[in-house]
Amino acid sequence: MKNILQMPPFFVISCSYTEFGKIMILDKYSFGIGDRFSQQGEAQLKAIQMARAEGFEIVPVWNKSNREHQIIHSTPADTRAEADQAVRSLKWDHPYYVDADHINLKTVDPFIPHSDFFTLDVADFIGSEVSAGEVNEFLDLAAPYEGVLHIPGIGEPFQVDREFLKSVAAQFLGPIREAGAIFQHISARKGHHDFVAEVSMDEVEVPQTPAELFFILLMIDHFKIPAQTIAPKFTGRFNKGIDYVGDVDQFRKEFEQDLLVIDHAVRTFQIPENLKLSVHSGSDKFTIYPVMGELIRKNDKGIHVKTAGTTWLEEVIGLAISGGSALTMAREIYARAHARRDELCGPYATVIDIDPSTLPDPVEVNGWSGTRFANALRHIPSHAEYHPGFRQLIHVGYKVAAEMGGAYLDMVRKNREVVAEQVTTNIFERHIKRLFI
Ligand SMILES: [Zn+2]
Repeated sequence: MKNILQMPPFFVISCSYTEFGKIMILDKYSFGIGDRFSQQGEAQLKAIQMARAEGFEIVPVWNKSNREHQIIHSTPADTRAEADQAVRSLKWDHPYYVDADHINLKTVDPFIPHSDFFTLDVADFIGSEVSAGEVNEFLDLAAPYEGVLHIPGIGEPFQVDREFLKSVAAQFLGPIREAGAIFQHISARKGHHDFVAEVSMDEVEVPQTPAELFFILLMIDHFKIPAQTIAPKFTGRFNKGIDYVGDVDQFRKEFEQDLLVIDHAVRTFQIPENLKLSVHSGSDKFTIYPVMGELIRKNDKGIHVKTAGTTWLEEVIGLAISGGSALTMAREIYARAHARRDELCGPYATVIDIDPSTLPDPVEVNGWSGTRFANALRHIPSHAEYHPGFRQLIHVGYKVAAEMGGAYLDMVRKNREVVAEQVTTNIFERHIKRLFI
């Protein structure tokens, strides 16, 4: 097992794994590219190709959640078609994936035929009920690690006593058991060698500690989930569409400790050895990109970063700078989002920070040039005209464009070249370069 990553590439794509037979092996560096309206697959893939041209072997993962599909009225088949089309058109001959993002047992079925990457979202099950028998079974498994837990590379050891293990079981045994059930459900329909599994618990209040993560990985082994990526909750705020807000030194410490815990768990448990961290709401977190890049290189670990709404914002920027009726539509999107800001911000309340008093009046925005509009929206924090509230409101305002339906899609297609250039530049210059290059 330890030699998989040194094998020739042919074997890396699908190789054997104890207990699970064969599983599809996810590449070391993968980048999640969400695309609300499924129009920018080629422009996104072009950015990944540009990274390859510079020697960075990143693979694309087109991710879309059930919630997004419902708002847009799209289907998992649309995302698959977009990915396949982009791959054919750009003659991409490396792996690529379609991620059923944040699914659970209730929502997974429509994704099964079309996805080969499944993000098992079990955040809702944190603290859910487990039987005394299940807890005892876990306590037996965890018993060898009771006392002082040393994670190689982490200076200070962790104190692990019964009480701690019971609290870990009370919080996480229910969710990981649920992840196992979702995995089995997909596996029974798809065959377990035909997809990549991620376990996500990022949409919770409190970050998991390194010791908690260690025992979560023991549970992942226990429930036989060959997870290749795990999305913990990190310290700080991962607001949609804007930079990281939080203590960067603390983030650095926790992120590296998580890498070391994974390393230790991979050597200790029966879990895939290429297991890596997945960073959700990963678009635009420019402050921590160099930190993550430095730490994965230092520790020779892979990474998966998910981005989603950032491409939709580039579509609006593209419309604005195209001028004429496209600029009118961009202004209209803002005006409608502004009028409905409470409704649109509601579902995202925990991941946005907008001070309504600073938002420009739509009447004023109607007087803006395309360049002025684009400058307010484009994520260049040092630009004098950049407005994070304006950006976040449009970020959550994609419902407005979804309601415009064909008129919006026609406008994006009519201005395809300008829009595509924005999308590619955003992913390559502002994201990939900061993280990988
Ligand atoms: Zn997430």
